[in-house]
Amino acid sequence: MTIMDRDSCLERLRQRPEFWDVIVIGGGATGLGTALEAAARGYRTLLLEQHDFAKATSSRSTKLVHGGVRYLQQGNVSLVMEALKERGRLLENAPHIAHNLRFVIPVYDWWEGPFYGVGMKLYDLLAGKLGLGPSKMLSREETLKLLPNIEANGLRNGIIYYDGQFDDARLAISLAATIADMGGTPLNYVKVTKLKKSGGLVSGVQAQDMETGEELEFDGRVVVNATGIFSDDIRQMDDPAEQRLIAPSQGVHLVLDGAFLSGESAIMVPKTADGRVLFAVPWHGRIIVGTTDTAIENTPLEPRAREEEVQFLLEHAALYLDRDPTREDVLSIYCGVRPLVRSPGDKGTAVLSRDHVLMIAKSNLVTITGGKWTTYRKMAEDTIDAAALVAGLEERPSQTARLRLHGWLEHPIETRGLLSLYGSEGPLVQRVMAEEPGWDEALHPRLPYFAGEVAWAVRREMARTVEDVLSRRTRALLLDARASLEAAPKVAAIMAKELGRDESWAKTQVAAYRDLARGYILKPTLTHPPPRAGSPLSRGAGEGL
Ligand SMILES: Cc1cc2nc3c(=O)[nH]c(=O)nc-3n(C[C@H](O)[C@H](O)[C@H](O)COP(=O)(O)OP(=O)(O)OC[C@H]3O[C@@H](n4cnc5c(N)ncnc54)[C@H](O)[C@@H]3O)c2cc1C
Repeated sequence: MTIMDRDSCLERLRQRPEFWDVIVIGGGATGLGTALEAAARGYRTLLLEQHDFAKATSSRSTKLVHGGVRYLQQGNVSLVMEALKERGRLLENAPHIAHNLRFVIPVYDWWEGPFYGVGMKLYDLLAGKLGLGPSKMLSREETLKLLPNIEANGLRNGIIYYDGQFDDARLAISLAATIADMGGTPLNYVKVTKLKKSGGLVSGVQAQDMETGEELEFDGRVVVNATGIFSDDIRQMDDPAEQRLIAPSQGVHLVLDGAFLSGESAIMVPKTADGRVLFAVPWHGRIIVGTTDTAIENTPLEPRAREEEVQFLLEHAALYLDRDPTREDVLSIYCGVRPLVRSPGDKGTAVLSRDHVLMIAKSNLVTITGGKWTTYRKMAEDTIDAAALVAGLEERPSQTARLRLHGWLEHPIETRGLLSLYGSEGPLVQRVMAEEPGWDEALHPRLPYFAGEVAWAVRREMARTVEDVLSRRTRALLLDARASLEAAPKVAAIMAKELGRDESWAKTQVAAYRDLARGYILKPTLTHPPPRAGSPLSRGAGEGL
């Protein structure tokens, strides 16, 4: 039976403490994947997330399920092959959340056509049977037909290739629900504060309920640290002498109105002036432009874009789109931090390992970090193989390669708004939308969400705050930050009723959401001129795919 009800889960654990086989710390892609891997093998599994599922990096990606053309550039063929295999699996296991997307590389220089054409053929080859469609060269006319808003000046032709696209936070929720389907227990808003030890070995965790402050303890045979950019904090909880290994690197995305790139194809620029990959991708009726790669020192839960990153994205989007976007056109700006893993002597983060790293401490603490959303399942499989060995658990084979995720529906129903993302649960959501007058109406005229989805998120998806609903159950914050702010009081009122809270709770929630959402709104004018991004703008030249 699926139990996605936080209050009753906690109450059950208070009444009947369990001895867990596997305790996972962190509810992002890696932790959710790992907990699902463990639960699907029949291990008693608990997952603890300090905030909401996918609050950190896992809701802030470019939304691509991809082999990673840039890793091909770096010659990391095995990483690309593994990612392409996982791409195929994810599209099969979660067709309601991930789908095939056509990308076009616009060609402006004579050498780019043959060069990238050959590179994309290699990409096709590496995908093998799990390929999503063959790449091919396009004429200038064909390119303009697929990308009506591409900068036509100087355009020679284009290259088509295929990759996957998904909704990251919705996949996280589907994973949490699948963990529950498999008998595991995923809990949000429970922060691990200390590791319990017995004879020098980790034997469980101390934690805090972040809603009530209640101290909690959980015992288990193995603890997995899947806290992404925070993994060093947990490693140092285990042993304060541990060296810090995460080299955080932030990436910024701008969200623009869909009219900036009409049609159904994405733009991929393999090499900008400073050697980056740039995407402009249609997503939920908007266009996501990204991203940057900036080494940072700290790892806040709410990272913020730097002015030079905004300038870089606006200036480069203007190079490839016929209408130049301005600050006023930015509907939302969001920033995520990559948990890249340092190796001695590394300088820039662009050359750090994008592969995952699995570490087993003397205390038996298992740490899994790095990687990417696309490869979460393989990372999880490797982690639980190791964790089972460490814990002396009965050996059981992985079950996830073909495990259909919660809501699986082969042909997602075309329906209003974004209800297709619920997959097989779409009709149940619609039933909730019919319960109360007004629940069948849009939350806001500029958002593709309905009021009834708020009640569904509380009842079935463990949403606890207005931010949970507007940022991760729906993606309103990313689609239009200002509209989401205007919708917040309505969301708070529905949630207060569903959760049995009072008016002052709703007011506090709206105020907290206002503070958060301001960080996603780009100020229209600058008070100080920004520093110019390093090199002069050009479309890039020379080597590389
Ligand atoms: C800009 C950008 C774009 C990207 N684009 C893509 C893409 O298009 N496709 C792709 O495949 N990958 C992409 N990635 C990579 C992918 O998003 C990450 O690899 C992945 O989300 C990392 O997940 P994670 O679970 O390791 O970390 P996180 O999502 O950060 O999860 C770690 C969790 O641990 C929790 N936590 C921390 N401390 C504690 C504690 N003490 N107790 C309990 N919980 C705790 C945190 O709250 C957090 O939720 C992108 C990354 C970035 C930054």
